[in-house]
Amino acid sequence: MPLAAGASGRIGCTYCQTLTGLVCASCKESPSLHGGLIPETPYCSDTCWENHRPRHENDCTKWKQRRCLFRAAQIVRDLFYHFAMHHFSTAISRVVPDGNELRIHEDPIAPESVFADFSANEFSNVEDLLTVLTYHQCTESLFHTTALVEALFFGITHSTKDIREVRHNVGTKYRSPMYVDQGPRPTLHDIWKITLKSDEVYVLDLAGAQFGNRDVVVPWQEYRSTRINGLEIERDLYAIRQEYTRGAIRDAEVDTEKEFRNVFIWHFTRTMDHTLKAWQESPGALKLHEIIALDNLTDYEAKRQGLFDQAINSVAAERKRLIKEKIIRLEDEATCLVLPRHSEVDGWIAEMKEETESLGQAGMGS
Ligand SMILES: [Zn+2]
Ligand SMILES: [Zn+2]
Repeated sequence: MPLAAGASGRIGCTYCQTLTGLVCASCKESPSLHGGLIPETPYCSDTCWENHRPRHENDCTKWKQRRCLFRAAQIVRDLFYHFAMHHFSTAISRVVPDGNELRIHEDPIAPESVFADFSANEFSNVEDLLTVLTYHQCTESLFHTTALVEALFFGITHSTKDIREVRHNVGTKYRSPMYVDQGPRPTLHDIWKITLKSDEVYVLDLAGAQFGNRDVVVPWQEYRSTRINGLEIERDLYAIRQEYTRGAIRDAEVDTEKEFRNVFIWHFTRTMDHTLKAWQESPGALKLHEIIALDNLTDYEAKRQGLFDQAINSVAAERKRLIKEKIIRLEDEATCLVLPRHSEVDGWIAEMKEETESLGQAGMGS
């Protein structure tokens, strides 16, 4: 069905000017680069849609890819925020706004290796909350979402080579978050840079809220001229996953007691990846890139919610299993989790080593 009900009532058909309430379904509700939506393209009939296709097709395809991009970005952001909320690295006891700074106080008696829920009730507004939630999380935001991004963008990029990690210097627009007993805040920031088949280039900035940038999708040119402050390195899709995994292995080998929090983060990310892989491979189910391309908004919303639920439930179930089997130990009114060394963890480290080797040769596949 190339046509769907439009939002603006009866207007003239683009081809024959007959009044109609129908519009091109492929590009309906596509975002404009300057905020809001692209105006709908009305047609009175399938015939007029077909007759006008040669003139409309280029715009239509470009706008639809943009719609897919914004949907993919929403899914990636929501899953990353959820991840950050429930697998937070620091036990925050208080956050005190002080002029241009957000001073973050940690719980002095919390165990060193924590895997806590984010203390969302310490904040009086959502801006401060997102700033602290994403603070120091840009590398993680890419590491968590690598396989997800690859699968979602399969249909609107030519290949995985069109998804790049960009590391750059950044300036701060919002209140600068700072842990009170640590050194100066970092200035390096990691983002995804994505080139669509339509040649439009975008940034997916998942942890930009720490600098006051809460819009996740930004056109590359605009991002580059307004948010990149010097130094800029571009790398392959899986470079950051490899770097993170190598670092986590190194930390775990240096200290056998506590320095393997990142091994757990790797494990939870892999748990989510397995769920996504199972989704991609289940017979008859829509692939991730097909979900974001759905023209029917209701269908899309239902699939999106289903995907989100399945991803977070798999991680929650694994967390529960690890607690039950005492691989994670609960402490301090269930807000803090201690990560004792365990033989299962050693098994993960062995798998991490295999992964970093195989990533050298190829991607994870979608
Ligand atoms: Zn017509
Ligand atoms: Zn269209």
